[in-house]
Amino acid sequence: MGIHAAEKKSLSARGMLDKVRAAFANIPEPPRDSRGIKSKISLADCLMSGLALFGLKFPSLLQFDHGLGDDATKHNLRTLYGVENAPSDTYMRERLDVIDPSSLRAAFTEVFALAQRGKVIEDYKFLDGYVLAACDGTGIFSSEEVHCSNCCEKHHKDGRVTYYHQMLAGILVHPDHREVLPFCPEPISKPDGSTKNDCEQNAFRRFLKDFNKEHPRLKVIFTSDALSAKATYIRPIVDLGAHFLIGANPGGNASLFEWLKGIELNTHTVKSDKEMVELKFYNKLPLNDSNHDLEVNFINCVVKNLKGKIIGRFSWITDITVTKENVYQLSRGGRARWKIENETFNTLKNQGYHFEHNFGHGKQHLSHVFGILMFLAFFIDQVQQHCCGLFQAAVKKAGSKARFWRRQQSIFTELYIASWGDLFLWMVDRSKGKVTMDTS
Ligand SMILES: [Zn+2]
Repeated sequence: MGIHAAEKKSLSARGMLDKVRAAFANIPEPPRDSRGIKSKISLADCLMSGLALFGLKFPSLLQFDHGLGDDATKHNLRTLYGVENAPSDTYMRERLDVIDPSSLRAAFTEVFALAQRGKVIEDYKFLDGYVLAACDGTGIFSSEEVHCSNCCEKHHKDGRVTYYHQMLAGILVHPDHREVLPFCPEPISKPDGSTKNDCEQNAFRRFLKDFNKEHPRLKVIFTSDALSAKATYIRPIVDLGAHFLIGANPGGNASLFEWLKGIELNTHTVKSDKEMVELKFYNKLPLNDSNHDLEVNFINCVVKNLKGKIIGRFSWITDITVTKENVYQLSRGGRARWKIENETFNTLKNQGYHFEHNFGHGKQHLSHVFGILMFLAFFIDQVQQHCCGLFQAAVKKAGSKARFWRRQQSIFTELYIASWGDLFLWMVDRSKGKVTMDTS
């Protein structure tokens, strides 16, 4: 470890939320109406309240709004999130609906910079100084009734229309770490007035462009599933000077697998105390017939338990030259891609964050603004879980993450909390931590 006290402090909830709030305060406020009347509640207060909604894992905006009737909730929003004036649910929706989702990106880069200074990103170095970024799309909303001007549309044969929103998420993963660190997700939506739906591939290109602008010196290997094992997805990664490690299968990459027939592959086997990993690899193969210039290196991986039963089969393509020295680590990286499904989307949907709940749809951007704020709350939680001892102790004391969120939410709405440190301290040991029944 060896990080300094000051860096550790800035990686606390307080330190991260201060930076986020400052980033929100920089977002230009759209005038409330055509007469340019100034809003009575600042945009930063509205955004921080939205972040608190997800940070505290409220299941609905209404429930959050009810809490605003209590003095404790108002007090704690001020001490923990710096919210001077908390907006009502209707008002919050109205204000967040008109914000360009991309203006929330700075909040992510601020937290990322703190994590970098605190040497957290160092822990995610995976191979030769490179980190591993898993990318995938996920649905955030679907309805046949509720929709906005940016909804994607699916027209069914019987005339029904399904309206939906998706996001392209990118997260830092490491096979040795449970926590994942998300970048700002990219909305997949239909631009207002357009007749064509946006798609995951376009969103990935936009994601890469912003990524390169915001993290020009970060050395990255992008990993994703076999749907991305095609030239249109790979070329933009190579053009950036980054690497890829992408799933492949005979269905999507028929000619590649045809090429492999009859070739004697290099082999390497690694046995750990849990499993046996049989690896085969071969360098410099054409990706497919129409992209002969695009050479890829191939890895096949069969995982067996110690009794010899096959428990997993994988194949990947990569532009990294595969050797006996790096093939096992590459296979661990390829398998870590699963964390975007399991530790990210599944956690957001089923572990307290209520990812698929409809917190409000709005007319323009609300759906994505809420989705992005939820990812930001998740990012802050994951950094704390990775390096804040007090947070870890409070989770341990609660017995499970779900119970920890429930306790945190009920303390927040019922008692007066002086600071995040006091809250966690109190959750560990009630004789410590400044948490009281009243403000006196
Ligand atoms: Zn919509």
